[in-house]
Amino acid sequence: MSETYDVVIVGGGAAGLSGALVLARARRRVAVVGGGAPRNAPAEHMHGFLSRDGMPPAELLARGAAEAAGYGAELIDDVVIDAERTGESDYTLRLGGGGALRARRVLVATGLRDELPQLPGVRERWGRDVLHCPYCHGYEVRDQPIGVLGGPEPGARARAVHLALLLPQWSDDVIFFPNTMPLSDGDRAHLDARGVRVLEGEVAGFAVDDRLRGVELADGRAVPRTAMFVAPTFRANDAVLVALGCAFDDNGWVVTDATGRTGVPGVWAAGNVSNPAAQVISAAGAGSTAAIAINGDLVLADAGAFAR
Ligand SMILES: Cc1cc2nc3c(=O)[nH]c(=O)nc-3n(C[C@H](O)[C@H](O)[C@H](O)COP(=O)(O)OP(=O)(O)OC[C@H]3O[C@@H](n4cnc5c(N)ncnc54)[C@H](O)[C@@H]3O)c2cc1C
Repeated sequence: MSETYDVVIVGGGAAGLSGALVLARARRRVAVVGGGAPRNAPAEHMHGFLSRDGMPPAELLARGAAEAAGYGAELIDDVVIDAERTGESDYTLRLGGGGALRARRVLVATGLRDELPQLPGVRERWGRDVLHCPYCHGYEVRDQPIGVLGGPEPGARARAVHLALLLPQWSDDVIFFPNTMPLSDGDRAHLDARGVRVLEGEVAGFAVDDRLRGVELADGRAVPRTAMFVAPTFRANDAVLVALGCAFDDNGWVVTDATGRTGVPGVWAAGNVSNPAAQVISAAGAGSTAAIAINGDLVLADAGAFAR
């Protein structure tokens, strides 16, 4: 096993790399494990990141990785498959490729997985014209015929209606397909007030070829649409946090303070793994905030202010 790192960062997306940049510039010995597959990889362009609007997701991470590595951060192309607190200020992280890393502090920035509706056409066009975030891609499909898919997935229902209420800001042709999801009278009134049409009927799938063509209903109707918004179920990639014994709230998200510090001493979380609403810029900000808190914690430990 290697010499102990000050900090091992699990996950090299926007949150993890941003934390690595801050810690490496603070002259900490830091390693980042993983990072090949950010959540927004299916999208050609990233939007809403001031000064980087429209940049391909992979390019942002390549630049971030080069910046962090330029200050001495070690980038390790592997995955953490298990983690354990092996001492007061000593964590062991086992790697999928074999071997292990030791660290005085751990920052978990492993993001989340989007569980998509199981319908033909959804996965093929995900991130292109099957979308979930108007702030990311609404502008790119402005003034187009837009649909919003409802569905029975737990946790996704309220978000589907919310999406349909948001979208008239981008297009005056928005249809909500409740699919198998019951709509309350309140939902219908709100959708009507926002000018969203409701088209009842079970959805069989999306018609796609080289792009999205429309929605196919189980009764044979076909409704042309060039963009569809869906509400995935968000699942945190939290196996490392679970292994380390972190606490989770009733909705299944890890409990942290405002800096991302979990209830387990020495363990922080940042980005989508702890906040499903984080955009790239806020995930990066959370990584930076956590890194500054971690460095402060190490300084206090080194000063003997408390034993960890
Ligand atoms: C289709 C789509 C388009 C989007 N478009 C935009 C947009 O335009 N603008 C915007 O602001 N946001 C957008 N988002 C949201 C954006 O993807 C997230 O805000 C952002 O990726 C969160 O960053 P993160 O660092 O928390 O997680 P991620 O970027 O997901 O990075 C987490 C990293 O951790 C790695 N990892 C996971 N488990 C392990 C492990 N055990 N060991 C090692 N590594 C691990 C993953 O492979 C990944 O590389 C979009 C999301 C989707 C799904």
